[in-house]
Amino acid sequence: MVNNPKPIAHSPQPAFKRNYGPPPAKKSLGQVFLVDAEIAREIIAKAGFSIGDRVLEIGPGRGILTAYLVKGGVDTVCCEIDSRLTKALNKRFSERENFRLIEGDILPLDLDTVFPGKEFQALGNLPYHLTSEILFKFFDYVKKCWDRNTAPRAKSLTVMVQKEVGERLLSKPGCRLWGVLSLYTELFGEIESLLEAPSGHFKPRPKVDSTVVKIRFRDAYPFEINDYELFRRLIKAAFGNRRKMLRNSLAGFSFPVNLEMDLRLRPEELRAEDFAYLANSINEGNDTT
Ligand code: SAH
Repeated sequence: MVNNPKPIAHSPQPAFKRNYGPPPAKKSLGQVFLVDAEIAREIIAKAGFSIGDRVLEIGPGRGILTAYLVKGGVDTVCCEIDSRLTKALNKRFSERENFRLIEGDILPLDLDTVFPGKEFQALGNLPYHLTSEILFKFFDYVKKCWDRNTAPRAKSLTVMVQKEVGERLLSKPGCRLWGVLSLYTELFGEIESLLEAPSGHFKPRPKVDSTVVKIRFRDAYPFEINDYELFRRLIKAAFGNRRKMLRNSLAGFSFPVNLEMDLRLRPEELRAEDFAYLANSINEGNDTT
């Protein structure tokens, strides 16, 4: 007989398929999960945490890095926005004394409240679309601490970023890649490259490879910046016209005649300290007029 269906009771397959695996990745949340345990172990080892250190993990996802932190005796606080993942993370780690979860968005989180009154470090395989925002969140926090004459409680930030962003962060003045992000990184900390993670170690596989870098934050301003807003405006104007000489891109600012800098330079030739000098000289110039 044709079309004789197999009786359900004899079918080797369940009548409907259930997915018992982890929830599928959400692109909108920048979810690319590291799936290579060896790389995860190496990241945690190179980040250099010790037993009893406090670490804020940003976007723990399925917990591949978290597991090494918790096992290694690190006092771990995770901040994860996706409630499907926080459920699984709680199930897996909530019995550990050195694990705590903040369910929500990292961006509005007040970093002073994560480990109240204590020093800590931060770590994350960041959602790529939020990389700059998260870096600037930390930079703003460090500045806030400097302004109240305290060393920042956040001591370092170890992040996995797209390789190209990593190259920009690690570049030096005078290089093609030197830009706003590298300049603020230089102002707020000292950066070190820890390792490369090729795209094949992630699921879903991203189009680009990744790099892990560690930024150690400075305890205080490395040089004087009289007016930070002006310093920022100057940097924005200069890099807004990267190929132009400073005397053109900064034509809207009035510098004193005795300025000790050649304004025929282009912005990628200047260090953060040079921009501070320029900004400070505008103030001084204004004072005398
Ligand atoms: N660390 C994991 C996951 C990386 S994917 C791993 O290496 O496998 C990035 C993670 O950041 C995801 O879990 C995503 O849900 C989370 N995330 C995205 N936006 C976030 C936000 N605004 N605040 C906190 N977590 C966020």
